Amino acid sequence: MKICDYNGFEQGPIRPPSEAASLLIRVSRNCPWNRCTFCPVYKGESFSLRPVDHVKEDIKAVARYALPLYEVLNAKGRVDSSDIQTIRANVATGDGQAFQAAVNWTRGRMRSVFLQDANSLVIKPEDLIEILEFMRKTFPWEYRITSYGRSHTISRISDVHLVRMAEAGLNRIHIGMESGSDAVLKRVKKGSTKAMHIAAGQKVKKAGMELSEYVMPGLGGQELSRDHALETADALTQINPDFIRLRTLAIPGHTALFTEWQEGRFSKITDVEAAEEILLLIRSLGEVTSTLVSDHILNLFQDVEGRFPEDREAMCEKIEAFLALDPVDQMHYQVGRRLGLFHGVDGMRGSAHMKRVKETCRQHAITPENVDTVISQLMTQFI
Ligand code: SF4
Repeated sequence: MKICDYNGFEQGPIRPPSEAASLLIRVSRNCPWNRCTFCPVYKGESFSLRPVDHVKEDIKAVARYALPLYEVLNAKGRVDSSDIQTIRANVATGDGQAFQAAVNWTRGRMRSVFLQDANSLVIKPEDLIEILEFMRKTFPWEYRITSYGRSHTISRISDVHLVRMAEAGLNRIHIGMESGSDAVLKRVKKGSTKAMHIAAGQKVKKAGMELSEYVMPGLGGQELSRDHALETADALTQINPDFIRLRTLAIPGHTALFTEWQEGRFSKITDVEAAEEILLLIRSLGEVTSTLVSDHILNLFQDVEGRFPEDREAMCEKIEAFLALDPVDQMHYQVGRRLGLFHGVDGMRGSAHMKRVKETCRQHAITPENVDTVISQLMTQFI
């Protein structure tokens, strides 16, 4: 069969941190909304759907490598580089990108697939279901299939279609809630309201899929920090997602929010204020049974993780320990954290890395007064 215009296996630019070892299958390109003021990812790129046949060709291209790799994994419990080379050599007319995708998939023992790009649920439900069924048939072992989805989109999908997607094997949806505050959402042009976030989250759960809600500490700036924490906690309480994932605000240079910040129209919060905001959020969550995950590299606390309600106090204590430090120690923690040397305040005490942290502060003339400015500059360059 000739597939018109098919140009080979495609991969989009991003996936959630938790999907690092997933097989990435691109069902649409870029973001159909693309207006969030803090988001640089798809700016300048236009959204397009990929034909279902092209997505199926991608799945088949990966399968040429993934099926024999799975056999090896199953038989030996691991895949060696010699196995990889043999399998590559045995595929006469393979696709290099599909090969890399299949090999990467073995890193996570082929246990999850992520559908790209920013909002796979925007494609016709019947098309998505066809892709899911084809994937399950092609790779007939147990694994998770997940996708990003916008609340605005999900709130318009019928419950029947969502249930059918779940039955076809879509296990988890990642939603970028960012905030539950309508004032914040409007300001950053998220294109969703608190009510939409709640409706979408509840629908995903009702359909039987797992739900991950991403929250962005700092997105309200100083002016809306409290409203951001309280309204987000309220929205999350009404949804009770399986996962609440923190992804701290960083402001890349080529975004509208960066311009607002530079022109003094957005007041970025400091790390101490971010800690207070996260503490307020955690304290304000109602009777949820969610798991809080802090798996983004830019987060101030990587050890503030746990399940509600039993781990709430322990999580709060970790943040309070940072707030109780004197300004110089707070600065040391902030710098050490951003150097990747500390994951939490506990790890800083008596750490062999402290010498390097102090040396870095001395070299770059970092003080408690300028530490947030220096870190903001570094984060802007990093992302
Ligand atoms: S919906 Fe997501 S990907 Fe699209 S612009 Fe907003 S944050 Fe970026």
